[in-house]
Amino acid sequence: MELKIGVIRGDGIGPEIVAEAVKVLDKVGQVFGHTYTYQELLLGGASIDVHGVPLTDETIADAKSCDAVLMGSIGGDARVSPWYKLEPGKRPEAGLLKIRKALNLFANLRPAVLYDELKGACPLKEELTEGGFDLMIMRELTGGLYFGNRKTEEVNGVLTACDELTYNENEIRRIAVRAFDIARKRRKKVTSVDKANVLDSSRLWRKVVEEVAKDYPDVTLEHMLVDNCAMQLVKNPKQFDVILTENMFGDILSDEASMVTGSIGMLASASLNDTKFGLYEPSGGSAPDIAGKGIANPIATILSAAMMLRFSFDLDKEADAIEDAVSKVLEEGYRTIDIMSEGKTQVGTAKIGDLICERIER
Ligand code: NAD
Repeated sequence: MELKIGVIRGDGIGPEIVAEAVKVLDKVGQVFGHTYTYQELLLGGASIDVHGVPLTDETIADAKSCDAVLMGSIGGDARVSPWYKLEPGKRPEAGLLKIRKALNLFANLRPAVLYDELKGACPLKEELTEGGFDLMIMRELTGGLYFGNRKTEEVNGVLTACDELTYNENEIRRIAVRAFDIARKRRKKVTSVDKANVLDSSRLWRKVVEEVAKDYPDVTLEHMLVDNCAMQLVKNPKQFDVILTENMFGDILSDEASMVTGSIGMLASASLNDTKFGLYEPSGGSAPDIAGKGIANPIATILSAAMMLRFSFDLDKEADAIEDAVSKVLEEGYRTIDIMSEGKTQVGTAKIGDLICERIER
C-alpha cells in the first residue's frame, strides 16, 4: 500500500515521541511491504515560531491532502513560554481546536488498556483487574453541551446561567455507525451511555442508536446510564468493549477510564471524521518538564500509529504487529521512567522505540 501520512511533530516531547512512531511505521512498511510519503505539518508553538500563528490555512490544506495525520503533543509551559503572552486565539492550543474543526473530526476514540505487566500502576484492587482490560471510549466531539448556545443574564434580579444541550439524529447516527464499525473489529459489544431517564437528548440518542444497531446483528448493544457507567468503570472495567457516548459524558468518562490504567505515557487516541481520515495522537500533553531529555515514553504515540493503520487504512495485521511488539517489550521488563518499577530495566525514548521495532514481525 502507498500511503500519504501527515506528521505534526509538535512541541516539547512531541518531536522525540513522533520520531519513534515514525521509526516503527517504517519498520512495519519494510516487513509488510508498504511505502509512505510523509508530509511535515507545523502546528502549535512550532508554527507560531515560523508563521506567527498556531495553524495556517496552507497547513490545513496540506493536512486534507493526506490519508491520515500522526501528531505529537503541542503547547509549552505557560509560566515561561512566550507563546502564552499572545492573545488566547493565537496560542498553541487554539491551533489544535482549529484543525479539529477544519477536518470535521466528530468522533474521538480513546482506548484504555491495562496491560497485565503494568497492573501495579492501576489504582484498582488486583482481583478486579487480573488479566488486564481493554476498552475503547467513543466520544462525540463536535456537538452537545459544549457547542450549544449559552448565556448568563439577570432574571428577576437573580444572575442565571443557561447552557443548551442539542443533538440532532444525524449527529447521533454518524457516530453510532463509527462505534458499531469499530466494535466489529474488536469483541463486538457496544455499551451506549446516556441519561435517558432524565434528558430528551438522551432519549433521542437511545432511539437512534437502536436503529443503527439493527444493521449490526453480530454486535451486542446494551444501554447504561452515565452515573452507573462511572461506577462500573471502577467496579468492573473488564465488562466493557466499546463505550459510545455524547460529548460531555465522554469527556468525563474517558479521563476516568485513563486514570484506572495508570500511566499517561501509554494512552493513544484518534479523532475521526466521516471518511477514513483521522488524526492520531497520544492523550498526554507536551510534557515540557522532560522535553529534550530523551526519557519520554513514546508508547502512546506508537500505539496511536497502530490505531491509524487499523482505522484509517484497515491494516489490522500490521496494527496487531505493533501492539504485540509493545506487549513483548513490556513482558521482557523494559520500561521508560514513567512506568518504571523495581526489578525492571529502565531505558530511554529512542531505545524503547528500537526494541519495539526489533519485535515487529509478520
Ligand atoms: P502533560 O500531559 O504534558 O504532563 C503531565 C505530566 O505527565 C508531566 O509530569 C509529564 O512529564 C508527564 N508525561 C506526559 N506525557 C509523558 C510521556 N509521554 N512520557 C513520560 N511522562 C509524560 O500535561 P501538562 O503539563 O498539563 O501540559 C503541558 C502542555 O501540554 C500544555 O501546554 C498543555 O496545554 C499541552 N497539552 C497538549 C495536549 C495535546 O497536544 N493534545 C493535550 C494536553 C495538554
